[in-house]
Amino acid sequence: MKALVFTGKKNIEFKEYGRPVPAAGEVLIRVKAAGICGTDLSILAGKHPRAKAPLIMGHEFAGNIVSINSNKNEGFMVGDRVTAEPLISCGECIACKSGFAYVCQNLKLYGIDRNGAFAQYVTVAIDRLYKVPDSIDYQTAALIEPLAVAVHAVRLSSLKTGDSVCVLGAGPIGLLTALVLKNSGADKILLCEREPYRIKLAGEYGFQVIDVDRGNTVEEIMELTSGRGADIVFEAAGGASTFVTATQICRVRGEVVMIAMPKDLVPCDIVSLTFKELIVKGVRVYAPYDFERAINIMSNSGLDFRKLLSTPFPLERGVDAFAKAKSGKEVMRVLIDTSAE
Ligand SMILES: [Zn+2]
Ligand SMILES: [Zn+2]
Repeated sequence: MKALVFTGKKNIEFKEYGRPVPAAGEVLIRVKAAGICGTDLSILAGKHPRAKAPLIMGHEFAGNIVSINSNKNEGFMVGDRVTAEPLISCGECIACKSGFAYVCQNLKLYGIDRNGAFAQYVTVAIDRLYKVPDSIDYQTAALIEPLAVAVHAVRLSSLKTGDSVCVLGAGPIGLLTALVLKNSGADKILLCEREPYRIKLAGEYGFQVIDVDRGNTVEEIMELTSGRGADIVFEAAGGASTFVTATQICRVRGEVVMIAMPKDLVPCDIVSLTFKELIVKGVRVYAPYDFERAINIMSNSGLDFRKLLSTPFPLERGVDAFAKAKSGKEVMRVLIDTSAE
């Protein structure tokens, strides 16, 4: 098959690669579309602690089932349109044993710890699969995984109907979080961002966006929330000072939900945190329930998710796709369309 292979030393190559054979309990999927995520960029940069070359990256994808290696009725058939929850948990650690396998202490992922979807084919365990309704095209379906991250963050927050919320960062995860909030009863949704393209896109979705480069973020948000601050702040930027901003713009006894994972230690405004009795909540990936909800929201909410997708690159131009994603210019989610090869 054709594949985009991470060969180490900050290099990826489009080349022939052995087509994978599904093990017992797995299916072979013909990949149709896959999204490039920040994690893929950090693997390419050689900054991911676990990913080892040679590796086919890609954990946000959709395709259809070509063969099934199981003699039981697993609820899937050849030809089914599917996406996959790319988590592989150990089943042994305290998180797994207490029913929270998604925060497994030995968590592994397709596309990081084993081959993923920047290829014509990928093998996936049947219990990781979700059917994609016909109403969702393959390219949009590649957004189900990041949408599940947003669904999880909102579900674990203490959001109440009519809340004023603020999302720091209008990249794919921030914008998806804002869309889920819009679908979950939040009243005022404010976004903070500096990239002009992202500000424009968030505005097209009807969100009020604060340009952080104006330098008055805290004042502007206090003014827009009648001096109270946001009931809940979702931190999806991961910048050097965004956690400090989050605690400063959060109302007394409000909540800061940490979605972004900054690479380095970040400063914290302890006085804001304690004086206002803030709750800080960390959230990570998604539970199976969130994946189902993400599919339902994508299918039924009437929200237009396609705006988040840039013009897809064919697999053979995967190197260009990565360059485009890395530039961050005029893009939200960069897709690789593997259907043509
Ligand atoms: Zn991702
Ligand atoms: Zn575990």
